[in-house]
Amino acid sequence: MICGQPRKVVILSHTNPDGDAVGSSIAWGKALQSVGHTVSCIVPNRFPYYLGWMNGINDVLLYNQDSEQAAKVIAEAELIFCLDFHSISRLDALGEEVEKNTAAKRILIDHHLDPSEQFDIMFSHPEASSTSYLVYCIIAALWGEKSITKEQAEVLYVGMMTDTGNFSFSTLTPALFRAVAVLSETGIDIPKIYNNVYNSFTEGRARLFGYTINRKMRTLRKGTVAHMSLTEEEMRRFWFQQGDSEGFVNYPLTIKKMKMSAIFIEHHDFIRVSLRSRGNVDVNIFAARYFNGGGHKNAAGGKSFVSMEQTIRHFENAVEEYAAEGMI
Ligand code: 5GP
Ligand code: MN
Repeated sequence: MICGQPRKVVILSHTNPDGDAVGSSIAWGKALQSVGHTVSCIVPNRFPYYLGWMNGINDVLLYNQDSEQAAKVIAEAELIFCLDFHSISRLDALGEEVEKNTAAKRILIDHHLDPSEQFDIMFSHPEASSTSYLVYCIIAALWGEKSITKEQAEVLYVGMMTDTGNFSFSTLTPALFRAVAVLSETGIDIPKIYNNVYNSFTEGRARLFGYTINRKMRTLRKGTVAHMSLTEEEMRRFWFQQGDSEGFVNYPLTIKKMKMSAIFIEHHDFIRVSLRSRGNVDVNIFAARYFNGGGHKNAAGGKSFVSMEQTIRHFENAVEEYAAEGMI
């Protein structure tokens, strides 16, 4: 199927695409193109500005800006690869276009827990640290490590680096570092990639970060659980651009005794909830139970459709309930 006759292929990734979503999609797209397939990568909305330097990112279609073209290629697709998400619902409105094409085979390549049953073929590996690592493994298995170009290596490295917090989370394995060694052998400039992603923010973002930690962080349960919130008005005050609050939720976990951290970000019609934890505190279960979401054990998210004050109260009550069950 992959190595046989040329196919019309679409590669999709999730809403608010991150480094792993676009990195894995671009690299997989280039691999399929190199063996003769016609490939379009599509995401529901724009990636954060600090990923704009990535080679191939401007060829990724944004459904909310180019919905006609995206709908056309999805309708014509013979194969639809779904990368870095576990359920069509994570595509929002783009998911409706996918549902219309009942002929295409849907293939999942992902590392989130509990994949839905909407896929024909599944490469579901929740133990993997990133989808980019899975794409690396698949390319290496199909065409060999040596087939990986410097351009592919660069975007795969972005995905591996961002999903592991620059290789610091608990999902690291020797095999991942062997993969990184192979990527490094293509001649990619690792310090440059790090700087492009982590040291390319605006002044507004630095000031918003200071404000959020200093003025908006509240702690519960003797300083072991933290939450922060940002309203649209606060974000406007700091010239907010999409992606500016990325990573804020990790910061409370730099405090030694912190076990769990949350941030609530106001959008037009809902509040996005991001959760992080350390060790055995499972925020995937917490997100599913209290915020209709999911993710991974130590990094998850969801949505809230009530006011900011109600969302915070709901979170604080949920934390107490979760702690009473011994889950925190
Ligand atoms: P982030 O906080 O970085 O947006 O997301 C952390 C993790 O939680 C990611 O793996 C992401 O896919 C997952 N996640 C975030 N929001 C949602 C959601 O609304 N539903 C589900 N199922 N997963 C989410
Ligand atoms: Mn990922």
